[in-house]
This record gives sequence, C-alpha cells and structure tokens, in this order.
Amino acid sequence: MRGSYYWLVPKDQRHNNWILYTDSLESGVVLRPRYAGMECPRCRKLDETTAIKLKGIDPDVRIRAKTDYLITDDGFICVSRRAYEVIVDNEIGGWNVVPLPGDDRYMLALPERELVTDMQKVGMKFHVKCLQCSRYRETCGFPLLQSMQLPESPKIVCCSEVWLENIRGRRFWFLVHEEIVKIFKTHRLTGLEYMKAP
Ligand SMILES: [Zn+2]
Repeated sequence: MRGSYYWLVPKDQRHNNWILYTDSLESGVVLRPRYAGMECPRCRKLDETTAIKLKGIDPDVRIRAKTDYLITDDGFICVSRRAYEVIVDNEIGGWNVVPLPGDDRYMLALPERELVTDMQKVGMKFHVKCLQCSRYRETCGFPLLQSMQLPESPKIVCCSEVWLENIRGRRFWFLVHEEIVKIFKTHRLTGLEYMKAP
C-alpha cells in the first residue's frame, strides 16, 4: 500500500476510566467480580478481548470524557457515537465495535483481527516474560511498519499480533493509512493525535 501510516495516539484524559476494573479510594484498583478466575495466577493479567467476549461488560461502566477517541486506564480504546458514525459512513473496517450496556455515548473498539508480525523486524523491547502465560510485563516502542503484513485496503484500521503491554495489561494501539487520517481530520474527531509510523 502506497502512502504513509500513522499511529492513533490518544490524548491524556482528565478522568480515569476503567472497563475491567474498578477504582476507589478505599480499595484501589480491583478486578470486577464478573472476570474473576480469568487472571493468570502468576502475573495477574487476563486476556482482555476474551474477557469481553465471554463475560461482557458490567452495566455500571460509564465513560467520563467529552472526546471522540480515548484510551481507558486498562488500555481499551473507546470511540464516541459520532466517531462510530464516521467509521460506518466511510466504510472503515478493522474494528469490532462493542457497545457499553450502560453508556450509549461510547463504544469499545477492539481489533477485528491482528496483523501477522515478524518478531525479527518488530523493533520493540520486551521486559520479563511470564513463565505461566508467556505475556510480557512491559513492552517498549511500537512494531515497525516493515515487520507487519499490512492489509491491501487503505480503509482498514490495523493492529499487530504483537501486543503492547504495561504492568496492568494490554494497550490497544491502532495504526491507520493516511486516507483514514484524512477522514478523521475532515470530521474533526477529538481526543487523538496522529504519529507517523516508522
Ligand atoms: Zn502470566
């Protein structure tokens, strides 16, 4: 595919937002009971997409934000209803959009599929692999363009099969062709920046 690719970079949010966890002054950050038993006994991470697929989302999950695009503190990308309409109207693929049962203003944007990625060319740093579930405690950097088998169509949002991780879990970062950037900018979607992918 000719043209440049860009990472969708969520801007910092004023409020904390969680999907799989709750956060309170009394108890701190706690996994919601709905997902109990899904954590790795060793590193305490759980497969985020499987958790959503199998167990759904609690009805009291609400997003405190005003932007069209944001990342929750547990790493999920949410898009506003307006952003969702832009995606649908412009026939942009690659996202499996999951409604929040208790908040019709926002939806989760999960990857429809993950791009085959060559670990030899990925250019990332990986820290401490869990002996039980093989996930890394943390990763550094982003997969290089040359490491991924990018789709033929410019209108598909991309996500590598190499996961970005922090100590809490996976961070869902997405890569798009400049054609999608053009569409998002035309509609002035808020809450994100575009970082040219090396
Ligand atoms: Zn583990």
